[in-house]
Amino acid sequence: MVRVSGPRAGMALTSLAPDLGALPPPRYATRAVLYASESNMERETKERIDDALVLWFPGPASFTGEDVVEFHIHGGHAVLDSLITSLGAITGLVPAGPGEFSRRAFENGKMDLTAVEAIADLVDAETAAQRRQALAQMGGALARRYDDWRARLVKSMAFAEASIDFAEEDIPDDLARQSIAALKDLASEIDQHLKDDGIGERIRSGFRITLTGAPNVGKSSLLNALAKRDVAIVSDIAGTTRDVIEVPMDLGGYAATLVDTAGLRESDDVIEQEGVRRARDQAASADIRLHLIEPGTSGDVPMMDGDALLVLNKSDVLEANAAVPDGALPVSVKTGAGMTELIERMTTHIQSLAGNQAAASAPLTRARHRTALEDCRAALRRAISNAEAGMDEEMMAEDMRVAAQALGRITGRVDVEELLDRIFRDFCIGK
Ligand code: GDP
Repeated sequence: MVRVSGPRAGMALTSLAPDLGALPPPRYATRAVLYASESNMERETKERIDDALVLWFPGPASFTGEDVVEFHIHGGHAVLDSLITSLGAITGLVPAGPGEFSRRAFENGKMDLTAVEAIADLVDAETAAQRRQALAQMGGALARRYDDWRARLVKSMAFAEASIDFAEEDIPDDLARQSIAALKDLASEIDQHLKDDGIGERIRSGFRITLTGAPNVGKSSLLNALAKRDVAIVSDIAGTTRDVIEVPMDLGGYAATLVDTAGLRESDDVIEQEGVRRARDQAASADIRLHLIEPGTSGDVPMMDGDALLVLNKSDVLEANAAVPDGALPVSVKTGAGMTELIERMTTHIQSLAGNQAAASAPLTRARHRTALEDCRAALRRAISNAEAGMDEEMMAEDMRVAAQALGRITGRVDVEELLDRIFRDFCIGK
C-alpha cells in the first residue's frame, strides 16, 4: 500500500487514475486502473501500472489530518517502482521521511506523543502482551490519564494565579485550601502510578531471566533447549561462556529475554572475571533468576541477592536414592525431563508479575514517561510544602507550572493559552 498525504494528494489520485473522472467517494475502496503519469496525455499509448484499489480520505478526517490517498496495489517490484516513479514525477510530491506520517499526525493534533510511541511499539510487538499494551496506549490509555492530571493541575494553577493577580478582589481562603488538597490528591495518584515495578516497561521490552550456575552444569545446553536452536556454544571445557548471551523468548504471551551468563566462580583469568562481574550485574536486575546446579553440588545460591529458582540439571545421572536439595526442580536437558514444568514455572512467575498491573490500568511504558512523572511529582511536593509553610503564592505557582510542563512533555501538549482560557472561564475576569 502506498500512501500520499498533503494538499496535492487528491490531484495525485485523479492524475494517476484518470478513468475515475473525479475523486471517489471518501473512505470507500474504489477499483481503479492506474496509469504511468508521463503517458496520461497520450491516451492511445498510455502505460498501465496496475489494476488497483484506491481510497480517498479528505482532511481532517484522515490519519495525518491532511488529505490522504491510499493506493492498494499488487505488491511486485515492477508495480511499486512504476507507481513511485509516477508519483515522483508530480510536482510537489516527495518521498516521506522516517515517521513523517506520524509526525504530521502529531503536529495536526490527531495524536499525542504516547500514541505515536505506541505505533512504534505495535510495529515492533512480537508477543500478545506487547501487542495488547501497545494497542491500549495507541487508543489513548496513557494520554487520557496524563491529560486528566494536567487538566486538574491547570485548574489549581488557575486558582493560584488568580490569587496572585487579583489579591485585593477577595479570592476566598478555602479556594487556596481546596487547591492544596487537590495537589495532594494528584501527587499521591502519581505516586501510585510510579510504583508499578516497571511492569509496563518490562512488558514492552521483555522480562529478564538470568541463568547462573557453576561452569559445566549445563547452562548453555539449557539455553539452547529453551531457545530450540543453537545460540550458545556448548562445550565441556569449563568457563567457555565468557560473554553474556541473550535469547528472546515468548512465555505465555509475554516477551522475555533469557540471559546466559558466565559461570559464577572465582577465576584468575581477567576475561572470565569480567564475565563473572557481568553475570552478577545481570542477575541483580533480573525478573527471574534461574540458578542451575548438578547432582553432587550444594543447593546454596552463591553471590546473588534475592530469590532464585533452583534447577537441578542432569537428573538423568542422578542416583535413584540421591537427595534433591530443598526446593530444587530436577530437570534433564539431555532427556527433556522436567523441561515442561520449568517453562510453566517461569511463565506463571511472569504472569503473576505482569497480571496485577495489566489488570489494574495502563502502565507507563518508557523511561521517558517515568522521568517526566518524577519531575512532576517533585515539583508538586515543593508546591505543597511551600503552600503549607505559608510561602508566597508566586513560588507555589511557579512549581505548579513546572509540574504541568513535566506532564505536558509526556503527551507533547505544552500550551500556555490553555491555562489562560481556563482562568478566564472559571473566574469570568474582565467579564
Ligand atoms: P555450561 O558451562 O554451564 O554452559 O555447561 P554446558 O551447557 O556447556 O554443558 C556442560 C556439559 O554438560 C556438556 O558436556 C553437556 O553435554 C553436559 N550436559 C548438559 N545437560 C546435561 C544433562 O541434562 N544430562 C547430562 N548427562 N549431561 C548434560
